Amino acid sequence: ATPLAIASSVREALERGIVVFDETIFERLRDVDTVVFDKTGTLTTGEMRVVDTTGDEHTLERAALLETRSSHPIAEAIADAYGTDEVAPDGGVVESAEADDSRQGRVSAFESYPTGVGGTVDGTDVLVGHPDLFAERGWTVPQRFTEPLDDARADGHVPVVVGEDGTATGVVVVGDSPRENWNTTVERLDERGVEVAILTGDDERATTRFSDHPGVDHVFAGVPPEGKAETVRQLGAGKQTVMVGDGTNDAPALAQADLGIALGSGTALAADAADVAIVTDDLDSLETVFELARGANRRVK
Ligand code: ADP
Ligand code: MG
Repeated sequence: ATPLAIASSVREALERGIVVFDETIFERLRDVDTVVFDKTGTLTTGEMRVVDTTGDEHTLERAALLETRSSHPIAEAIADAYGTDEVAPDGGVVESAEADDSRQGRVSAFESYPTGVGGTVDGTDVLVGHPDLFAERGWTVPQRFTEPLDDARADGHVPVVVGEDGTATGVVVVGDSPRENWNTTVERLDERGVEVAILTGDDERATTRFSDHPGVDHVFAGVPPEGKAETVRQLGAGKQTVMVGDGTNDAPALAQADLGIALGSGTALAADAADVAIVTDDLDSLETVFELARGANRRVK
C-alpha cells in the first residue's frame, strides 16, 4: 500500500472509533489466517452479574469486600451483588453518609491472583476464585460443592468458589451474555477463509454456546491467564495470527500475536500491547478493520 493509502485508511479508521497504533497492520492483515478471540469481555459483553449463590453468607460478604479491590468483571459483579460499593479500590472506606462504619478496617491483607483474590477480612483468611486457585493454594473444596459447580458450567455460567481458613464454604455463580453480533463476526471471518479460535480461562462446558457454532474452528478452554500468550504462540507457529481481547488478563496474548486488537472498555489497559484499539466497544468494527485493510491494499498498484 502507498503511504497515502495507508494514511487515509488510518484516518478513516479513527473516524469510526478504531485507533491504529501501527500503520503496517493493513498490509499484515492481508495474510492473516487465524483470529483468536478471548471469551469473557470480548465475545461476551463482560457485564457479569451474580445469578446464584450457595453457602455461608458471612464468607460471601467477606468475599465481596475483597472483590472491591479487583477490577475484574467477575469481581465487580460480586461486589455489586453485596452492595459493597462504598469500599474504595485502595481498601479504604469512602466517606459518605451511607458508608457503614462497621466496615472500616475489615480488610487487613489483600492479594490478587490471575484467577482470583485472597486476603484477610475480619481476621479471617478468605479466598475467592477459580476452583484451580483453591487447588493451587492447597485449599480444600468439599464434595458438596461438586454439583453446584457442575450445574453452573452446564448452564454456561462461571462458578466462583469462596472460602475461609483453608476450606471452600460457598459458590457464587456469575454469568454474562454473548455480544449481539458475535456470530456474524465469526461467520464473516469464516467467509474470508480465516480460522477462528476461542481462548478462555473457563471450563470447556462454559464455551459450548460458542464452540458449537459454525465457523468456530478451535476452542482452548481452561487456559490460565498466564498461559494465554503461550497458547497463541503455539497456535501461531507458521501462521499469521490476530488476537482480539478486552485487555483483562490477555495483554500478553495481545502482544504475542502477530497482530493484537484490543476491544472495548478495557482498551486503556491493553492499548500498550495492541496494534489496534477498537474504542467503539463494538465487535462489528473488526469487520471494518478488515475492510479498511482491503481498501488500503487495493490502492497499492
Ligand atoms: P476469560 O479467559 O474468559 O477472559 P479470565 O482469564 O479473565 O477469563 O478469568 C479466568 C477465570 O479466573 C475466571 O473465569 C474466574 O474463574 C477466575 N477469576 C479471575 N479473576 C477473578 C476474580 N477477581 N474473582 C473471582 N474469580 C476470578
Ligand atoms: Mg477476558
